[in-house]
This record gives sequence, structure tokens and C-alpha cells, in this order.
Amino acid sequence: KRKMRKKIVAGNWKMNMNLQDGVALAKEINEALVADKPNCDVIICTPFIHLASVAQVLDSKVVGLGAENCADKAKGAFTGEVSAEMVKSTGAQYVILGHSERRQYYGETAEILKEKVELALANGLKVIFCCGETLEEREAEKQNEVVKAELEGSVFHLSAEAWKNIILAYEPIWAIGTGKTATSDQAEEMLAYIRSIVAEKYGNEAAEETSILYGGSCKASNAPELFAKPNIDGGLIGGASLKAADFKGIIDAWK
Ligand code: PGA
Repeated sequence: KRKMRKKIVAGNWKMNMNLQDGVALAKEINEALVADKPNCDVIICTPFIHLASVAQVLDSKVVGLGAENCADKAKGAFTGEVSAEMVKSTGAQYVILGHSERRQYYGETAEILKEKVELALANGLKVIFCCGETLEEREAEKQNEVVKAELEGSVFHLSAEAWKNIILAYEPIWAIGTGKTATSDQAEEMLAYIRSIVAEKYGNEAAEETSILYGGSCKASNAPELFAKPNIDGGLIGGASLKAADFKGIIDAWK
């Protein structure tokens, strides 16, 4: 099985490393992948403070760089915020938006995320847009409804042209950082559903070209089974992206 659309493994470092440790990890990942070329696109998403320094140690043809967030305002008196333009100026090409931790802990609503998506795209960043349900919502069998509403609320207003810069990531909240991965069948079922609603909105061809990732306790041991599913185009990796060998193990699942 070799799908036409881009296969991707993206790391999401979250709030785990200081600058020195982050640069060292980026170097290690870069060296490993320059020596043994990946069979997929590899992206590392880091805290803002790492971006400019990490950009310097990556071979951009081998490893892409992204932020984990950006502001919902373009510019101005917003103390402590970092704009999409500022992210882009570091050399980053991507930004994660809509991560459940941002939604849950920082009150990011669909409306706020819509603004962030607009600004990211306007500044030439590709967006890794996350969606996913809570355990309670899954137990009530509302996962499809929840995910559809998240996409409708923040990205389905985009033009077909803008849509080409969207990567989707399905991350069931009950699987993030819990060690409890969705089964490959659960993940495949949801990703197939997501692809079907993308097709309704943008047509079959666009849906076939949209990369959709799974995230939530994805690691080297379960990545091969997940990535073997026809609708799973890769992973968004938290915990297992913090060690070069673990991350490389997941990337190698595409070989
Ligand atoms: P995890 O995180 O791999 O540690 O579960 C995934 C994510 O939140 O992107």
C-alpha cells in the first residue's frame, strides 16, 4: 500500500525541554535522518523559544519545523503573544492549531481557532489542525459529531486553495499521554469518517490528497499497525518525540 498523499510523522514537544536540550535533540534527530533518509515527511514542532535555534541545526529538506501555537491577532499590543508572522520569520513552515490541551486549558474556542488558522495561512504556514473527542463523548457515541463540529467551526470555511495547506490530526483526548492508544480499527474508522466529510466539503480528489494523522500514545511499537491502515497517513507524536531513537522508530514504521 503506497498512498499518493503525503505520509507524515510530526513531533509535538510540548513544554518539556529547555533551549539547550531542545537544540541537542533536534541535532540528533537531524543527523539520524540525514544518515538514513526517511520515507515520509518529518516535522518537529517545538515551543516558540526553540524555533529560531532549531531552524539553524535542521536540514530543511529532511526535517520540517513547526510551532505548537500562534496568536489569534496579527500584530500589536498583545503582551506575551507570538504571531504567525513571527513564527514564520524563524524559518518554521508549520504550526499546530487546535490541540486539545490548548482547547481545554487555555480556553481556545472554535472561533479563536478560526482566526489563528486564517492568520497562519495568510503568513504562509501550513496548519496541522487537531480534533478529537473526550472519553465521555466517545462513551456517548458522539465522537463523529464532536469532530465534525470542530472541523466545521474552524477549518471548513476555507477555500479549496487554502485547504491544500491543511493537515488534519485526530487525537482522541483519552489517548493523549495516557498510554492508552486508540486501536488501529478505532483510529481507522474515525479517519475514514473525517476523510468522508472532507470529501463532502471539498470533493473526492481533495479528500484523497489530504493527509490525516493519528495522535495519542503513538509509539514505535504500535506505529506499524496504525500506519498500515488505508486512511492513516502518519502520526502526531507527543511523549515518543522527546527521544531521537523513539521518534526515529516511529518514522521507520513507514519503511
Ligand atoms: P502523546 O501526545 O503522544 O504523548 O500521547 C500526542 C499529542 O498530544 O500530540
